[in-house]
Amino acid sequence: MREELNVEELFASKVFTLGKMKERLPKSTYKEVKKIMDQGGELSPATADVVATAMKDWAIENGATHYTHWFQPLTGITAEKHDAFVTHPDEDGRMIMEFSGKELIKGEPDASSFPSGGLRATFEARGYTTWDITSPAFIKETATGPTLCIPTAFCSYKGEALDKKTPLLRSMEALSKQAIRIVRLFGNTEATKVLPSVGAEQEYFLVDSAKALQREDIIFAGRTLFGAPAPKGQEMDDHYFGVIRERIGGFMHDVNIELWKLGVTSKTQHNEAAPAQHEVAPIYESANVAVDHNQLVMETLKRVAGKHGLRCMLHEKPFAGVNGSGKHNNWSITTDNGVNLLEPGQTPNENIQFLLVLACIMKAVDVHADLLRQSASNVGNDHRLGGYEAPPAIISIFLGEQLEDVVAQLVETGKADNLKEGGVLRTGVSTLPDFVKDATDRNRTSPFAFTGNKFEFRMVGSEDSIGSPNTTLNAIVAEAFCEAADRLEGAEDFDMAVHDLIKEYMTEHQRIIFNGNGYAKEWEEEAARRGLPNIPSMVAAVDTLTTPKAIHLFEKFGIFTEAELRSRAEVLYETYAKTINIEALTMVDMANKQIIPAVMKYSKSLADAVIAITEAGGDTYVPVRMLQQITQKLTEMEKASEALLNVEKKASAMERGKEQAFCYHDEVMVAMTALRKPADELEKLVDKKYWPFPTYADLLFEV
Ligand code: ADP
Ligand code: MG
Repeated sequence: MREELNVEELFASKVFTLGKMKERLPKSTYKEVKKIMDQGGELSPATADVVATAMKDWAIENGATHYTHWFQPLTGITAEKHDAFVTHPDEDGRMIMEFSGKELIKGEPDASSFPSGGLRATFEARGYTTWDITSPAFIKETATGPTLCIPTAFCSYKGEALDKKTPLLRSMEALSKQAIRIVRLFGNTEATKVLPSVGAEQEYFLVDSAKALQREDIIFAGRTLFGAPAPKGQEMDDHYFGVIRERIGGFMHDVNIELWKLGVTSKTQHNEAAPAQHEVAPIYESANVAVDHNQLVMETLKRVAGKHGLRCMLHEKPFAGVNGSGKHNNWSITTDNGVNLLEPGQTPNENIQFLLVLACIMKAVDVHADLLRQSASNVGNDHRLGGYEAPPAIISIFLGEQLEDVVAQLVETGKADNLKEGGVLRTGVSTLPDFVKDATDRNRTSPFAFTGNKFEFRMVGSEDSIGSPNTTLNAIVAEAFCEAADRLEGAEDFDMAVHDLIKEYMTEHQRIIFNGNGYAKEWEEEAARRGLPNIPSMVAAVDTLTTPKAIHLFEKFGIFTEAELRSRAEVLYETYAKTINIEALTMVDMANKQIIPAVMKYSKSLADAVIAITEAGGDTYVPVRMLQQITQKLTEMEKASEALLNVEKKASAMERGKEQAFCYHDEVMVAMTALRKPADELEKLVDKKYWPFPTYADLLFEV
C-alpha cells in the first residue's frame, strides 16, 4: 500500500507563493509586491532586499543552500547556474548566509555560449537575467540538493531578448492592451487587464532505461534512427486509455507528487495511442506561468523516469510507424474581472462581443497562418508536420457545426438568427440517462480547434517550449484587436459599425475555416485552391519570421525588433543543421560499428552452415538464399553509409545559415532515409541473437 497523501498540504509546498509572502513579509512590502505583480513596475531596492531575505530564509528552511536564476534560452530548454547563499566570513571566520535584493532581481550569468544568432559576440558577452515577478520562485530538487529557482527573463546588454520568456511577456502586455480596448467598447469599465490562459497537454513515451542506453540513437538524438516495425503497432487501440500498468502507474504517482509540490496542477493522466505513449495535463493558468510549468513538467518526467529505471522520451517522433508526440496548447483570454472572451454563452449568435473576438481571431490566424505554423516548428516536429508519415502542415480553424453555421449566416446575410442546437443524445438504454449533447462534435485532425471556450493549438511539438506558439498567438490576436478597435472606437453608430466589421472579417477570412478531415490528401489540394500556405518543413518556415508583414507586426507591438527576429532565424537554421548533423553521425556510427559487423557475423554463420550442410550432403537452398539476400542488403547499406558520411562532410563544411540548413534537409536527411531502409530490412532477416541493440518490439512492448 502506498502511504496516504495529503495533497492539499503537499500542493505548492515548494513554491514561494503569494500566501507565503503575505505570511512572511511586512504588510507594506507585501502590498508593494502585489501591486507590481498586478500593475507592473519595479521593486524599490529596499523592498527587494526584504523580499530576498524572506525568500532565502524560506529556502534555507527547506534545505536549500543555493539559488539560481532560472531562464529559458533559445535552446528550448531551461538553464541554471547555481550560486550558494554564502558570503565572505567575518573576522572570526563565521559566515552568514545572505541573499540581497540585487541578487534576486538581476543576475549576470556569463552564458555567452547560448545561441544568440549574432546578437552577442563572445567579446560583448554580457547577458542579464531579471526576475519575472509574476511567476513565483520555487525550490527544485536537483542532483546537488534543493535549489531556490527564480524564474527570469534573459536579455543582452542592450536589452535584446535572448530567450523565450521576454517576448512572451511582451506579447502578453500587447494583447492585454488591445483586448482592453475591445471590452471597453462593450461597456466593461472594470477590467484593467486581459490575460491569456494556457493549458498544455504533454505527450511522452516511456521505455526501459537499461534498454534505451544500449542504443546510441536514443542517447544522442532522443529518437530511434533505425528500427523495423514490431509485428504489432497501435492498430488494436488497446493501449489508448487502457489500464495503466503497475510500473508506469508508480511513475505517474511520483510525477504527480513532484509536480504538486512545485505548484503544478497535474490533473489528467492516461495512456496514449501508441504503445508506451502516455499523456499528462495540468489545469490551465496564466500563459507565462504555464510556460514555466510546462518546462517543469518535462524536466520532472525525465527526472522521475530515471528513478524508476525508465527513460522518458519527449521527442516528437521517437519511433517510426506509430504516433508521434505533441503538446496541445489550449489557449483562451480572460479579463481580470473574470470574463473569458472566448465564452460563447448559450446563444453565440447573439453574443456580439464573442462574434467580434471570433472574427478577429479568424483574421489573425488567416493573415498570419505562416507565423503560427512556424511557431510550432522544431526539428523533431518535422516528422509530425507536413512530411514523412504526417498530415499536411496547413493551418486552418475548426469551429464546429454550430459556430460554422453562425459564421455562414453572418457572411451570407449579415445576421445569424438561427442557432443549431445540440439536441438530446439518446442512449437507447432505459437505465442510462439521455443527456443534452454539445452542439459541436470534436475534430481530432484540426490544427486549431475551437473547443467550447478556448482554442486548442495542436501542432506544437512535445519537446518544444510553448513559449513561441503563445507569443505568436498573443501577437497576431493583439494586432487584429488593435485594427478592430481603431475602427470601432471612432464609429458614429457603434452597432452598425461592429456588425459591418464582423461580416467583413468573417467574409474575408472564411477560407481559414475547415471542418473536414485535415489528414486527407484532398484537403491539401483544397487548401492550395484557397491559397492557404502549406509550409512543408521547419527550415522552410524560418523565412516567415522576417517577411515585411512579420517585422511590422512584431515591431508595432514591441515584441521583437527586426534584429531579434533575424537573430532567431539564424538560431533556427543553426539548430536544425546541428541536430541533423548529430543524427547523421550517429547513424553512420551505429551502421559501421554495430549493424554491419553484426550482420557480417551472422553472414559468416550462414556461410558456415552452407559448408557444413554441403559436407553432410544436405540441401543448402535456404542458407544460400538467405546469404545472398543479406549480402545484397549489406552492400547497399555499406554504400549508403559512405554516401551519408560524404554528404554530411559537405554540409558541415558549409557556412552556417539558410543554405546549410537546406542542405541538411534536402540532402543529409535524404541520405539518412536511404541508409535506414536496408538496415531495417536487414533487421527483419537477421537472427535476433545477432542484432546489436534492442528492437522496437523490445522497447515498446516490454516496459
Ligand atoms: P480536452 O482537450 O480533452 O477537452 P480538457 O477540457 O480537460 O481536455 O482540457 C485540456 C486542457 O485545456 C487542460 O489543460 C485544461 O486545463 C485546459 N483548459 C480548459 N479550459 C481552458 C480555458 N478556458 N483556457 C485555457 N485552457 C483551458
Ligand atoms: Mg485536448
